[in-house]
Amino acid sequence: MLAFLSLALALAISVPPPPAASAAVPEAIVLGIAQDGGVPHAGCRQPVCVAARSDPSRRRLVAALGLVDPAAGKRFLIDATPDFPAQMEALGGLPDAILLTHAHVGHYLGLAELGREVLDTHGVPVYATPSMARFLRGNRPWSRLVAFGNIDVREISGEVALTPALSVSAIPVPHRDEDSDTVAYLVRGPTRRILWLPDIDKWQKWDRDLAEFLRDPALTAFVDGTFYDADEIPGRSIADIPHPLVPETMARVEAMTPPARGRVVFVHLNHTNRLLRDADAVAALERRGFAVAREGQRIPLAGSAGAAGDRRVAVRAARSEGRTAKKRIAAGERRVEDGAERSEGPASKRIVAE
Ligand SMILES: [Zn+2]
Ligand SMILES: [Zn+2]
Repeated sequence: MLAFLSLALALAISVPPPPAASAAVPEAIVLGIAQDGGVPHAGCRQPVCVAARSDPSRRRLVAALGLVDPAAGKRFLIDATPDFPAQMEALGGLPDAILLTHAHVGHYLGLAELGREVLDTHGVPVYATPSMARFLRGNRPWSRLVAFGNIDVREISGEVALTPALSVSAIPVPHRDEDSDTVAYLVRGPTRRILWLPDIDKWQKWDRDLAEFLRDPALTAFVDGTFYDADEIPGRSIADIPHPLVPETMARVEAMTPPARGRVVFVHLNHTNRLLRDADAVAALERRGFAVAREGQRIPLAGSAGAAGDRRVAVRAARSEGRTAKKRIAAGERRVEDGAERSEGPASKRIVAE
């Protein structure tokens, strides 16, 4: 049964070649696109969850980004999600370091796999803000990972060189800070960059501006796409779990000069988000030049970085991803949408977006 489950999980994300076999340039790999609870989400009786329970290809792993540098023979992981075992396999093995965004369950629970009960690793570097580091050092079971030397918690400050070709910086982001503060990561490759920003309360609360990042023509921004509609969580106020709605973010980006929407990709989708089941909504978003993240999506971090060329590549990639998404949704997830209203159960109201 366990073997079947891990096989099913491994199949759920299709990122076959390990770093050594992939292109020789550093690249990022999307290893999960869902909000902290994944799809299917615990307690969810909506068709999207019911279908995902019986069909592994419809599962969506929790948002995480892999980084690989074949020349250095190294791989890294942004966020240790509850789907860590499958994501580690998709990445090609144990990460040489893990970078954490914050202390909400979808973003660090996977660290438990590094403990004596499972991998019993030795000194895996775990980069975190001082606040997140304090949380790990001060609370079991995480403090045991530190005490037993399974992980080596490193407080991130400034730009950290992961390899000669890859570096990262942590960018503070406003987000409910019950246990730690929150950061996004700016990943720099030889010629291209990625902003990985899965959680933010509201763009208006940020002391930075997304436009500031999108001005870089060689940057692709993966941004918080948790919710699409304000009323998609029955019985819960979105004010308690604030995230920018996808249409709000699109309008904000469309108002920017120069336009940069071809390089904005939505990630960290809650299981209630229509972009997981509504092909028309995805198509409409793509017509406006945006994209929805896809598990297994690879973004080379070297290569042509000219503004126009990069934009063409990004738009082409977004379009071809869109076609794939549309086919996938058309194949089955559309049927799921049709039954959404009918079979919504009370359990689906107990939803947490971290
Ligand atoms: Zn989250
Ligand atoms: Zn969160």
